[in-house]
Amino acid sequence: MADKPVALVTGASRGIGRAIALALSRTYAVVVNYRSSKKQAQAVAREIEQQGGSALVIQADVADGPQRQHLVDTVLQQLGRIDVLVNNAGISVPKRADLFDVDEEAWEAVLRVNLYAPFFMCQLAGKVMTELIARGTIQRGVIVNISSISAYAASTDRAAYCVAKAGLSMVTKLFAARLARERVFVYEVRPGIIRTDMTRSVQERYDHLFQEGLCPIARWGMPEDVARVVALLCTNELPYSTGEVINVDGGFHIRRL
Ligand code: NAD
Repeated sequence: MADKPVALVTGASRGIGRAIALALSRTYAVVVNYRSSKKQAQAVAREIEQQGGSALVIQADVADGPQRQHLVDTVLQQLGRIDVLVNNAGISVPKRADLFDVDEEAWEAVLRVNLYAPFFMCQLAGKVMTELIARGTIQRGVIVNISSISAYAASTDRAAYCVAKAGLSMVTKLFAARLARERVFVYEVRPGIIRTDMTRSVQERYDHLFQEGLCPIARWGMPEDVARVVALLCTNELPYSTGEVINVDGGFHIRRL
């Protein structure tokens, strides 16, 4: 059994997931899940260990049911508990395409990673946390789903991504309502435009949009901006709040006149 509480972060080998893993490692033993970037995941684990934390690296494609089960089983075998789940793993659309040209294969690929995976990870972790709380092994659980401003902002050339993130908002509400009585708190963190590999190809376009006033806080978001909010939600400081959405978007969501 881990001597610290345990946080499982999906897709933690780079970008926002990496920053969340590092931020949580001050309080938690962190499970660094990755799909294919083993070296990068191991580098994140080393960074955590150099800062005095502990990390366990586990390969699993969260879009695949048996691999999700393997991920959770391995955490329980090795560390004996899960206190926090952060559903961070996500992909963009394989190719931007008009609504008339979206094919089913691309649609399914995005929904599998960005919507099915977090739903079934919430289901798996929710059951595990409920059992651990009933046994007195842990006192409470927290699940954080990383959605996007695309949950409400329509990009007609990225339909599957928008639909998946909008669906993830409802996943958050559903599990928040279902798990409150079990003392598991569920939150949605909605990042804006964050500087990671995912946004690398559109960097110049957004540099320009920031200059033109896209966000009240006129700069790129950084992975650490998101990580700080996730770490805050994992504290015991919001005991009467669940199902909340926290925008981490430089004020993008504010309608202006
Ligand atoms: P990224 O591409 O840098 O990182 C995504 C990570 O998820 C990668 O490590 C990738 O390997 C992993 N991943 C993808 N599919 C996986 C799978 N099937 N199983 C396990 N791991 C998988 O992107 P990022 O910007 O760090 O994005 C992280 C999350 O934040 C995503 O859910 C994304 O949709 C969301 N987000 C990003 C932005 C942004 O501007 N970068 C904005 C809003 C929301």
